[in-house]
Amino acid sequence: MLSVKIKERAWIACIAARKLKAGNAAIVIGNTIYLYGVTRAGFLSNPAWLRHELKHVEQYRRLSIPVFIIVYLYQCLRFGYTNAPLELAARQAEADEGITGNYRIA
Ligand SMILES: [Zn+2]
Repeated sequence: MLSVKIKERAWIACIAARKLKAGNAAIVIGNTIYLYGVTRAGFLSNPAWLRHELKHVEQYRRLSIPVFIIVYLYQCLRFGYTNAPLELAARQAEADEGITGNYRIA
């Protein structure tokens, strides 16, 4: 079982929140979920959000960190954030109740 770390008040998630014009954001790098504008408890109490970010952890595992970042940025430029295939897959995973069982939240 893969261990996932959570970091609150992360500057990188702060930048993401501003970009998305949102009050809060989560951003994944490798197997760490960086949060801004939401506490760890608040994030974990939102199963769809947690599954979405765990799907990104899975994508990082499959692609490796540098390849994920390159492919993700390319897809956002090519298709837009909403329609980027890695984002579409993460959004689909929001309903996947099985994904949470594959990870241990450290
Ligand atoms: Zn996402």
